Amino acid sequence: MMDSVLTLQDLGGQRPAGTALAVLGHPIKHSISPAMHTAALAEMARSAPRFAEWTYRRFDVPPEELPTALTTFHALGFRGLNLTVPHKIIAFDCVHSIDPAARPIGAVNTLLWTPDGWHGYNTDGYGLATAVAEELGRPLTGARILLLGAGGAARGAAVECLQQRCAGLWIANRSADNLQQLLDLIAPLADGIPVHGFNPQHPPADLPGDLMIINATSAGLRPDDPLPFDVTRLRHPAGVYDMIYNPPQTRLLSAAAAHGIPHANGLSMLVHQGARALAIWSGVSIPVDAMRAAARRALGL
Ligand code: NDP
Repeated sequence: MMDSVLTLQDLGGQRPAGTALAVLGHPIKHSISPAMHTAALAEMARSAPRFAEWTYRRFDVPPEELPTALTTFHALGFRGLNLTVPHKIIAFDCVHSIDPAARPIGAVNTLLWTPDGWHGYNTDGYGLATAVAEELGRPLTGARILLLGAGGAARGAAVECLQQRCAGLWIANRSADNLQQLLDLIAPLADGIPVHGFNPQHPPADLPGDLMIINATSAGLRPDDPLPFDVTRLRHPAGVYDMIYNPPQTRLLSAAAAHGIPHANGLSMLVHQGARALAIWSGVSIPVDAMRAAARRALGL
């Protein structure tokens, strides 16, 4: 039951026992969030027995059913929800209130039950910032960042880089229209930070050295995907963080390894965004190592 994929109909309008958490997505079968959160809750229950009553399940909810699903989960008293593809942007317009830091992103991945309705947060940016600092030993603050991609994940990453006051942000994306949309969206947040966009096939000659590269494209999910960027075109990159974690070693990360560039995959971001969500719901400090170990086990690593 714990591992199964549920639907709204499986709830049968019944209030679940204990304190219920869930992740909603479509598809959702691949999600390892239940494994991470269940491991964390078991660890938390060792010192605070009330967490033994908490559950975290995954629900397959098609996008057209999301508004109804959110109303139903709220009515049934779920304490918190995570949202994954394709719900993060749709939910933004369905919730009662939004954390100010999530507003410029236009997407939410964590909802907290309040008597008036869902309160929305976005913990992806925190997950990214924490993971980059932990894995590559450098904060986003003061770093010169080369962000690859202009989709949903890149939007959150760009906002986080600017909110953390990076020293400069270069964004490379295949489609010029999507790139321009992202540049327009973040322009009001730049507040003096230089922001540039370009096509990854034609990088400008004056790119600075010491760039921290963040891959927020989906290029690398499949083995025959093209490289999202040729890292050999850069002078002494500071590091490569690839948001992809499955497969754990993308072509981009292999290229970084071959050139001695510090690098890491997106598993740490997944773990830290999840830990932040659980902290929001529980109000206590989270056993991040238990979540990381469970995530690795769930991926067979
Ligand atoms: P979107 O579909 O919103 O965006 C996809 C992006 O990838 C676009 O910029 C697109 O460019 C680019 N892209 C796709 N295929 C290629 C290609 N063959 N070559 C170059 N660029 C390409 O996806 P998301 O933003 O939601 O997700 C992006 C990645 O981030 C995914 O791999 C996802 O798994 C990962 N992710 C990881 C998280 C974590 O916790 N570790 C959290 C969230 C996301 P174009 O505009 O030209 O189409």
